Amino acid sequence: MKVTVLGCAGSFPGPEAACSAYLVEADGFSLMLDFGTGSMSALQRFGDLKRVDAILLTHLHCDHMLDAAQYVVVRRWAPDGPYPQMPVYSPAGGRDRLTAVYGAAEEGSLDDVYSFHTLRTGSFDLGPFAVTVDRVNHPVETYAVRLEHDGKVLAYSADSGPCEALIRLAQHADLFLCEASYLDGEDNPPDLHLTGREAGEAAAKAGVGQLLLTHLVSAWGNPQATYEAATTAFNGPVYLVRPGDRYEI
Ligand SMILES: [Zn+2]
Ligand SMILES: [Zn+2]
Repeated sequence: MKVTVLGCAGSFPGPEAACSAYLVEADGFSLMLDFGTGSMSALQRFGDLKRVDAILLTHLHCDHMLDAAQYVVVRRWAPDGPYPQMPVYSPAGGRDRLTAVYGAAEEGSLDDVYSFHTLRTGSFDLGPFAVTVDRVNHPVETYAVRLEHDGKVLAYSADSGPCEALIRLAQHADLFLCEASYLDGEDNPPDLHLTGREAGEAAAKAGVGQLLLTHLVSAWGNPQATYEAATTAFNGPVYLVRPGDRYEI
């Protein structure tokens, strides 16, 4: 399985990164894991605008879903389109939210472009992937994701404060793509995001192979301090992801 980082900026786009979006590919199937603000631009640079087979939105905060509305234009109006209807998995309300973001009531439904599926805690098959999702600690309904393919495991925290569900889901993952929005010592609101240290602790408890830190808030973050905080808690390899990074497991 191959993971391409399209966007990794937390909360809003940064000067050098779009918001959360990760293209996960295996056996010729491309899954867009989150589709945050600005990531369609990166999709054209690091991927293929046409070649997305499914979308999974971990939650309905703008920085994780806005470009799934924008992407409707491509699927519906490309000169060689329309492209086949494709599945979108999201928490409850995804269909209504994307429809509202796309346009006014007279624009109609998006059902010609997307088939909508509601996430619930549990497992299902999606293309070549065995997918497991579980609710994590964030103010809106949010699912962390575990993708398994050919004996390899990618876990993605989505947005989450510390919680047991995240550690369960990341158990022995080869790659753990984990948010690290905060630093210790700041006046962080509870139950919203992880610090670099907490991301490292979750990685250590889950016994993952590699920790990929993401969702740093560009305008306020300190990548080096976040990285160092994570390495104090996790002994394995730690990386700060950037747009265009590719990881293969
Ligand atoms: Zn976010
Ligand atoms: Zn969020």
